[in-house]
Amino acid sequence: MAEPLFKARNLTKHFQITQSFFQKLRGKEKQVVRAVDGVDFDIYWKKNFSVVGESGCGKTTVGKLMMRLLDPTAGHMYMKGEDISAISNRQQLKAYRRQTQMIYQDPFSALDPRHRIRTILEEPLMIHDIGDSREERTDMIHEALEEVRLTPPEKFLRRYPHMLSGGQKQRVSLARAMILNPDFIVADEPVSMLDVSVRAEVLNLMKDLIDEEDVTYFYITHDISTTRFFTDYIGVMYLGDIVEKGRGGDVLDTPSHPYTQALLVAVPEPDPERGRGVKKVPITGEIPSGTNIPSGCRFHPRCPHAKEICEKKDPEEIKVGKEHTAKCHFAGEIEFDIEVAK
Ligand code: SF4
Repeated sequence: MAEPLFKARNLTKHFQITQSFFQKLRGKEKQVVRAVDGVDFDIYWKKNFSVVGESGCGKTTVGKLMMRLLDPTAGHMYMKGEDISAISNRQQLKAYRRQTQMIYQDPFSALDPRHRIRTILEEPLMIHDIGDSREERTDMIHEALEEVRLTPPEKFLRRYPHMLSGGQKQRVSLARAMILNPDFIVADEPVSMLDVSVRAEVLNLMKDLIDEEDVTYFYITHDISTTRFFTDYIGVMYLGDIVEKGRGGDVLDTPSHPYTQALLVAVPEPDPERGRGVKKVPITGEIPSGTNIPSGCRFHPRCPHAKEICEKKDPEEIKVGKEHTAKCHFAGEIEFDIEVAK
């Protein structure tokens, strides 16, 4: 198998909660949020990796660690074999960030409302000293706008973000990321704030760019239904840990962790003929706080299949197929009896 483009090993991020004066006075112990708790994953060139989970599971923190917007508490990240978790030098960080770009969830606040589209797209070129003249940069900006199908580009250059629709704004965000020819893009819920009618359009465009521009995505989403269309590999994240991972089709068609199964049950069935009736999502309650991770299997307080051992022992990663693993004592034994909408 080819070498991964990006590799994370035991990637960990813990945040210390600042104590108030009175908490210190009372001698209260410092609390730590275990946002990302030792995850491993590989991303291969032009094979998208999606990370799925509820809000607060740590998926955005993983994205920020990959961008080196946060420093890991422990563990390592390798980009093309180079350990990027150890980079602290500004120049090296700048070079790394040219290869990796991020698209944010909210296109309405990701673009500076005071700047025209031309300025927004020229800024990354200026930061990275790309283009010898204004004309050369203008050509690059035209090309980037054409890549994201905002044509003719001249029509958009003098506009401000508020003059664009949500879908057009997200295309500008994509153009701003693509203008540096990155190797991979961390896309943090890139379509969740868009109208349903334009979500598929933007995802289709992102998919087209994989081959056109040789780019790979790390796609962060809470919506497991969009991953079937967009992803090659999936990591299902729960409370700071990846509890199931594998090829997209394997995870979606033969989910082996009860949490993945619950996420799939929650996907609405588009065909009323095949409706699921009153089938209820089998888990209850909210995701626990990252300051108080349950003992044993972190999913046990919400798991409909939990047994005595689950509360006591943290499950190992069990191989349930080729490149498909799940962290559950009973992985591969728990039946999933719902036909998944494709
Ligand atoms: Fe549920 Fe136990 Fe598996 Fe955890 S180890 S997911 S609690 S069955």
